[in-house]
Amino acid sequence: MKDSKMATAEKKERQSRGNVNINKDRCKGCGFCVEFCPTHALRFSEDFNALGYHYPVRLEEAACTGCDQCGAFCPDFAIFGYRYKSHT
Ligand code: SF4
Ligand code: SF4
Repeated sequence: MKDSKMATAEKKERQSRGNVNINKDRCKGCGFCVEFCPTHALRFSEDFNALGYHYPVRLEEAACTGCDQCGAFCPDFAIFGYRYKSHT
């Protein structure tokens, strides 16, 4: 079961056209990035950052397109998406 879950995660990762960079300690937990990611590739952390907020983390099983919609919505410049070079 675990192997098949890992295989699915690896498959999705291969399908991803990009990734996100998250500066968790700049995040103020507004949730815009999680809410507006078109592929639902983000969720909130269970732990807290230095400011006391839950911050976004990438869901490995979801494909990230690198569209940077998360970055466009973030008021605190805490996250941005980027496309892999092979997909630019
Ligand atoms: S770059 Fe796009 S697809 Fe990736 S996490 Fe941000 S909003 Fe979602
Ligand atoms: S949009 Fe920015 S401040 Fe808001 S939860 Fe996402 S990373 Fe944090």
